[in-house]
Amino acid sequence: MYLLKATDVAKTFQTRQGQSVEALAPTNLEIEEGEFLSLIGPSGCGKSTLLRIIAGLIPPSSGKIEWRSESDVKNTNIGFVFQEAVLLPWLNILDNVRFPLDTFGAPRKDSDEKAHEMLALVGLKDFAKALPKELSGGMRQRAAIARALVYRPKIVLMDEPFGALDLLTRDRMNDELLRIRQEVGATIVFVTHSIEEAAYLSDRVAVLSARPGRLRSIHTIDLPKPRSEASKDVPEFFSWLSVLRKELK
Ligand code: ADP
Ligand code: MG
Repeated sequence: MYLLKATDVAKTFQTRQGQSVEALAPTNLEIEEGEFLSLIGPSGCGKSTLLRIIAGLIPPSSGKIEWRSESDVKNTNIGFVFQEAVLLPWLNILDNVRFPLDTFGAPRKDSDEKAHEMLALVGLKDFAKALPKELSGGMRQRAAIARALVYRPKIVLMDEPFGALDLLTRDRMNDELLRIRQEVGATIVFVTHSIEEAAYLSDRVAVLSARPGRLRSIHTIDLPKPRSEASKDVPEFFSWLSVLRKELK
């Protein structure tokens, strides 16, 4: 049963110079409850656009997004993580993570408890009082993930969340993300331009073609779960990399 269904969703932007840019050709996609779905495709093919339409941050030019039920649509049920951790620089890490709860008017004691719980989950327990600028890029991104998860959203939309990190930190964050997801059980839609990352993390990988993006193919990554570093050493993993790389051409 789908959690979310995109039917003929397309987007054309009007630039300030009066040109129109077709960012996304009509796209059909069903997202299953609980799955980890990655979107890959060349830069500028409309991945962020599709994600922002799903989040309700921008409207599609045509087509529609349907949620399984009305109660899934409420924005408290959608978490969003951007490429650069968007934290408020004047708030400490705890207050940044609490922020969505405070905004939605949760009682202070409640939001305190939940924020501390999330910080522990992402391994930032000892940094609650630190300011964002005192953390490394990977730690800031973990704080951003904690904030996106703090109200237990049904679905978390992640737009190249680890794209700005060095490879080692990215690998570590991938494993962290799988672990956190195991604990909270959210549906995840994950945009990346890394084939390795997509194959490693995903239940399914959707490949978009160059702009205007259209859905080229969807692949069910049948590597055993849970995934770990060892998953990357098996021939099947390399076969998937090869399949996905060809799809991107
Ligand atoms: P991706 O995330 O796959 O790199 P985007 O979804 O960001 O691609 O962008 C798709 C295309 O739409 C690009 O050509 C981009 O320049 C254009 N675009 C994105 N946002 C806007 C906007 N607000 N106004 C005009 N053009 C835009
Ligand atoms: Mg993008």
